[in-house]
This record gives sequence, C-alpha cells and structure tokens, in this order.
Amino acid sequence: MNCKIDYQAPAGLLKERIILVTGAGDGIGRAAALAFARHGATVVLLGRTLSKLETVYDEIEAEGLPQPAIFPLNFEGATLKDYHDMAETLDKEFGRLDGLLHNAGLLGNITPFAQYNPALWEQVMQVNINGPIWMTQALLPLLETSPDASVVFTSSGVGRKGRAYWGAYSVSKFATEGFIEVLADEVEHLGNIRVNSLNPGATRTRMRATAYPGEDPETLRTPEEILPTYLWLMGPDSRGHNGERFDAQPPR
Ligand code: NAP
Repeated sequence: MNCKIDYQAPAGLLKERIILVTGAGDGIGRAAALAFARHGATVVLLGRTLSKLETVYDEIEAEGLPQPAIFPLNFEGATLKDYHDMAETLDKEFGRLDGLLHNAGLLGNITPFAQYNPALWEQVMQVNINGPIWMTQALLPLLETSPDASVVFTSSGVGRKGRAYWGAYSVSKFATEGFIEVLADEVEHLGNIRVNSLNPGATRTRMRATAYPGEDPETLRTPEEILPTYLWLMGPDSRGHNGERFDAQPPR
C-alpha cells in the first residue's frame, strides 16, 4: 500500500501554488481546499452548488489565507466550451496551474446491474470520469506551464476490486485508474507533470453515509484526518511519482 498518513506537511508547503479542487464545497474536497489554502496555496474552488463554494471561500478569507477563486460548474451539463472558457479564465488570472485535484463524485445507485437505470449510469460516468477527462485536456497547456504540476484523480476501493451492486460508480473508478496510467505515460517525458490516483478510503461524508446507511459515522476518519497524503501529493515531496496508486488511509 502506498499511503502517507504520517506525512507532516511543513507550513509553507504549497506557497505560490495555484491549485484547482473539484467538488470543493463539501466533504473531502472542502477539507482539502481549506488545507491547501492553509499551506499557502491559492485555491480555485469548483463545484455545482454556488452557496457551498461561497461558504468555503468565506472561511478561507476569514483566516486571512491567499484569496481563492470560485468556479461554479456542474459536470452533468458542462460542455467542452465550458472547460476551454475555464482554461482561458485561469490563464488570464494566473497564467498556469500547479495542482488539479479531481475530487467531485457521484455515487449513483447501489443496485443489481439487472436493474441499473441506463440514464443514471451515463450520469455517473459523466460526473466521475468523462467530464474530468475533458476538463483535464483543456487544462493541459496550463499544467505544462507550471514548473511542478500535480494532477490527482480520486479513486475508490471499488475502482481496484469490483464489488457486486456498485455498478457505474465502480466502473467509473476503474476507468479513472486506467486513465491516470495513460496520461502519466504521455507526460512522463515532460518531467514537470505527475498524474496519480488516490483512494480516500472510508471517510465520514455525505456520500459514505448514503452508501452505508447502517454504519456508525463515528467509526470513520473525518475528511480532515485523511489529508496528509493529499498534501504530500500536491507538494514537491511527491516529485518523481507518476502513474502510481495511493491510499489516503490504511485499510480498516
Ligand atoms: P460528498 O461529500 O458527496 O462530496 C462530493 C462532492 O462532489 C460535492 O462537493 C458535490 O457537490 C460534488 N459533485 C457531485 N456531483 C457534481 C457535479 N455534477 N458537478 C460538480 N460537482 C459535483 O462525497 P465525498 O465522500 O467527499 O467524495 C469525494 C470523492 O471521494 C469522490 O470522488 C468519491 O467518489 C471519493 N470517495 C469517497 C469515499 C468516502 O468514504 N467518503 C471513499 C472512496 C472514494 P455538491 O455538494 O454541490 O453536491
């Protein structure tokens, strides 16, 4: 297992870095965005619910951290033009991108495949893999401009070992694991971009509570407790690691 849960991130780890976090309004994405800002990064908060992004924005401002930016975007309806407009805006504002955390995710239904709704299947694939892939394509030139860029895709245990009833969610995470290997291999020769996958493991969020309604949330680590591997991957200490799979916590 490739896990850095004991990593002690130095205070200024992400100073001067521009990092985009998807699904930054809630759960793990919210915690990661706050932690990146607390370690010096300028964070771009992307998500589908503006009010949640604004709350995170206000928290960052209230702590006197580098001024963040908000980018409302719903992967369900987003078009290639939206991704390219976003890249243009980021280019004008910052001129480069040093970190990209693909964290937004949709669970879909946990149900036998025989009963899986095809429209929901498409929706989950759109939010979890297709949208993030085309967004990454649009952002590649900005990542190439960075002296040290880290792209992290969020995976799952069911993206590494299939499990009955997990349907599109599981398949989308397998696709994620495949995609990071393809892109990592393509950018390897550039030397300044790394692309890795990260499985958060069981974490106390809304998505986990939906997937496991009978579970006591108090038995789970909070998003804040699983962040050392996120920080390690976004900072310079993970240089040279490309196309690898990481876990944010040891298995339970
Ligand atoms: P969460 O609390 O449900 O957060 C998911 C985030 O994704 C929310 O900010 C949500 O926005 C955003 N999102 C959902 N659909 C979107 C869309 N169409 N467009 C843009 N943003 C969208 O879940 P979480 O547990 O923090 O999950 C974060 C990541 O970790 C996901 O990729 C998930 O698959 C993965 N993961 C979680 C666990 C776990 O135990 N929690 C385990 C393995 C993997 P809104 O708040 O606006 O809905």
